[in-house]
Amino acid sequence: MQIEDTTTTPKTVLVTGASSGIGAAVAARLIGEGHHVIAGARRLDRLHALAEHTAAAAAESGGSLHPVRLDVTDRAQVEEFVALARERTGRIDVLVGNAGVMPLSRLDSLLVDEWDRMIDVNIRGLLHGIAAALPHFTAQGAGHFVTIASIGAHQVVPTSAVYSGTKYAAWAITEGLRQECDPTIRVTTISPGVVTSELADSITESGAAEAMRTYRAHAIPPTAIAAAVSYALAQPSDVDVNEIIVRPARRG
Ligand code: NDP
Repeated sequence: MQIEDTTTTPKTVLVTGASSGIGAAVAARLIGEGHHVIAGARRLDRLHALAEHTAAAAAESGGSLHPVRLDVTDRAQVEEFVALARERTGRIDVLVGNAGVMPLSRLDSLLVDEWDRMIDVNIRGLLHGIAAALPHFTAQGAGHFVTIASIGAHQVVPTSAVYSGTKYAAWAITEGLRQECDPTIRVTTISPGVVTSELADSITESGAAEAMRTYRAHAIPPTAIAAAVSYALAQPSDVDVNEIIVRPARRG
């Protein structure tokens, strides 16, 4: 069997939640490697700033960044996001499902609206991406789903019940996808530990926010997760990197 050498070919990569933190670092890394990144998030100004920040790297590598306003909780917007990428480059090679929120709280605080938001973004948003990209990947006979799950997909601590629930779901959905889909489609789950980003800013419960300041004291940069994404993408087409956990070496 002839194995296509995909290791150095420029890819069209969609990244959700590319306006900050891990998504921005993934986009910047892949642009530097010559890939064409379609970057989605709600804060379009931040995506334009990222495009400016990466312009020199793009000129050198031949890569590109195209900012798109995107709310992953809106299924139609995610379909348009994928369709737009196909229009621009003729195909899509990778979908990085990264958009996520983490307003941690104890269950007895009953911050039900925040539970709903985590379910909508972290689970429904991920599923919308899969629904939009899977038919294209199947028709192309190639594609790569990368889910940014979390160490919260592997453990529960007080205040993380709902967040961890959404990340266990993200892990399970991605594992199910791996088992079900055509072997020409690759599936990777990356679970970061504590990474410097804006993620904890959405915590409104003061106890959880305080606990997180201590828990998050030892963090690694988002470039560490971008390196893991890059590694998974760069493998030959017959090599499927299914799961990576990346944590700070120093534990709090
Ligand atoms: P950030 O808060 O910095 O980034 C989150 C991104 O998600 C932003 O770009 C935000 O963009 C986007 N986002 C949020 N809601 C939506 C939405 N409805 N539609 C589209 N985009 C949305 O945090 P991180 O970079 O840390 O988080 C990225 C992923 O990594 C998340 O899934 C998170 O759970 C996961 N993770 C992070 C860890 C960490 O310690 N940082 C650890 C483990 C996992 P905008 O607001 O502009 O829409």
